[in-house]
Amino acid sequence: MHTPLCKHAQGDPEEYAEQAVRRGLKGIIFTCHSPMPDNWWPNVRMSPEQLDEYIAMVERAREAYAGRLDVRLGMESDFFPGYEWWIERLNERCDFHHVLGSVHFFGKDYRERYWKGDPVAFQRCYFGHLAESAETGLFDTLAHPDLVKNHSPADWDLEVIGEDIAAALDRIARTGVAMELNTSGLHKTVREFNPGPGMLRMMCERRIPVVLGSDSHHPGRVASHFEEALDVLESVGYRSVSYFLGRKRQDIAIGEVRASLSGGI
Ligand code: ZN
Ligand code: FE
Repeated sequence: MHTPLCKHAQGDPEEYAEQAVRRGLKGIIFTCHSPMPDNWWPNVRMSPEQLDEYIAMVERAREAYAGRLDVRLGMESDFFPGYEWWIERLNERCDFHHVLGSVHFFGKDYRERYWKGDPVAFQRCYFGHLAESAETGLFDTLAHPDLVKNHSPADWDLEVIGEDIAAALDRIARTGVAMELNTSGLHKTVREFNPGPGMLRMMCERRIPVVLGSDSHHPGRVASHFEEALDVLESVGYRSVSYFLGRKRQDIAIGEVRASLSGGI
């Protein structure tokens, strides 16, 4: 989940924590958008000078909810070739519990460098970067890993891009990096989870661990559609989901997660 520091999320961490308690969660990890150097796509993230403020903000919520909800610090870090050194430094500097890696193709810098006017070629480029991001070893989990389907929904077809996805997933599976099932996809142009069921099945075949995320940019979205997400995961063959503490993967049976959830809609 996010904080107002990224300039496109609302609500204090405590409000997210409150909703998490209502939903029966045992803990939450804040993964706001990473600061980046060189003024790289600055309007959707904290500035490097705000990093300490972010850490303090999450710490404040952690203390306020101690004993009721386990609140932890993480980061959603951008993967953009050439900036690996920066993410490495961030990871060294902060005690993150979970680092998400994101290929945000809709950023100006990404489009300027990689958009060549062919939507399917752009999707291929995205999945290549997804695999590359896993291979850097900088990230625990790849965030919303089919987000590119929203770039040009009319050109999104698993029949066309399936082989490229398979090749990327083979590379990702070899790294041991997890992938996210992000429920906020339901609110995007292509109204399905990121990734959708077809790709989730391909991930399951390769035994890639899945982390459930709501990508909340508003407190009301915490644990949104988690019950439905667990149903989809079971339907494609998953029996457990994962989360990270101290950047170490923990697995938990889907039945146990379902039993703990409350207050769903
Ligand atoms: Zn965001
Ligand atoms: Fe993201």
